[in-house]
Amino acid sequence: MKRLLFTYDPLPVTFTRGEGVWLWDEKGNRYLDAISGIGINLLGHENPEWVSFVQQQAAKLVHVSNLYQIPEKELLAEVLCHKTGMDKAFFANSGSEANECAIKLARLYGHRKHFDNPSILVFENAFHGRTLATLTASGHRQVQAGFEPLASGFARAPFNDMNALKQIANSRNDIVAVMVEPIQGAGGIHVASEQFLREIRQLCDKHDWLMIVDEIQTGMGRTGKFLYCQHLDIKPDILTLSKGLANGIPIGVCLTQGIANELFAPDKHGSTSGGNPFACAVALQTLGIIDKYDLMNNASIQGENLLKALQEQFHHHPLVKSVRGKGLMIGIELNKPCKEISKISLQHGLLVNVIQHNIIRLLPPLVIQSQEVAYICEKLNIILKQFETES
Ligand SMILES: *Cc1c(COP(=O)(O)O)cnc(C)c1O
Repeated sequence: MKRLLFTYDPLPVTFTRGEGVWLWDEKGNRYLDAISGIGINLLGHENPEWVSFVQQQAAKLVHVSNLYQIPEKELLAEVLCHKTGMDKAFFANSGSEANECAIKLARLYGHRKHFDNPSILVFENAFHGRTLATLTASGHRQVQAGFEPLASGFARAPFNDMNALKQIANSRNDIVAVMVEPIQGAGGIHVASEQFLREIRQLCDKHDWLMIVDEIQTGMGRTGKFLYCQHLDIKPDILTLSKGLANGIPIGVCLTQGIANELFAPDKHGSTSGGNPFACAVALQTLGIIDKYDLMNNASIQGENLLKALQEQFHHHPLVKSVRGKGLMIGIELNKPCKEISKISLQHGLLVNVIQHNIIRLLPPLVIQSQEVAYICEKLNIILKQFETES
């Protein structure tokens, strides 16, 4: 640790092996991974079909650069467009980079419309990444503090507030795009209301703004459909995905439709390792396994069971303010700070993550089964009891 820049303060545990939803530490203790490496391990750990494919692809071809044709990249773009209804794709290595691409497209679009200082409307409490532009787009002071001057060209509105949206649409003439998470992830599992997302789509249509939807955490089946937007039949102009897309191999993608398809030209944007054959082939395999085992449907069923069970179990709990989410993306908001819960959970063989000081976040793998859902509920009950007596 002493050679690492101090950006993370990890819990005192080291995992040495994984299988499905389970991880084992060096002493042989077993943990149910209900956070999936922050929404990354969609297939759980070391899925045998995924592992054997990764081994084969590593032995075949890993990287050649975008100077050459990459069939795996073209096929992944084809599959993603088919699944999302979008037209074109740009591949990067992370969520932040996918969002940077979206932001650059929005600015190109603004300049095409002859705006000198085009602005993107973003929301309070949003999280879009850690690069300078994406941390500016994020709505958390702690992500931004100390990194001033922040990027210009962002306007901010409260989340789920229709009147504020309309007011901004009427009062500002520099907006060219709206960027939104359908469920704010790092911000505390706040679900956008149907009305709010429809209002954004309508305003974008009315004012010729681009609707940028960040499904980096909600996408790839986590909420029971490939995209959260598909629950509402809303189609963005720009869509970003990353996290679990290749089940742990870094990848990000920015997808476009309509006018956003034609804004780039060669040398306008790029990534040296983005779109490499290895990451793209592994993403294709990951999506193939999700389809083969109908894991989106499993996420929908098990997610609903988990949400209902937690809501019932904590309905009258003195510490619990609300239990919310969609599919396998669930937040339990307590009425006081509870950072210690991630540590207490470790002692009880459960991995969860606490965000915004008082919200327990659950992002279990899409392969989770009923008995494992029951395990999470049972452990959380014990964990909250211990937290209650110790705090
Ligand atoms: C994780 C996340 C990001 C940032 O992704 P990185 O891979 O960490 O750069 C952006 N937006 C959302 C909604 C996320 O959940």
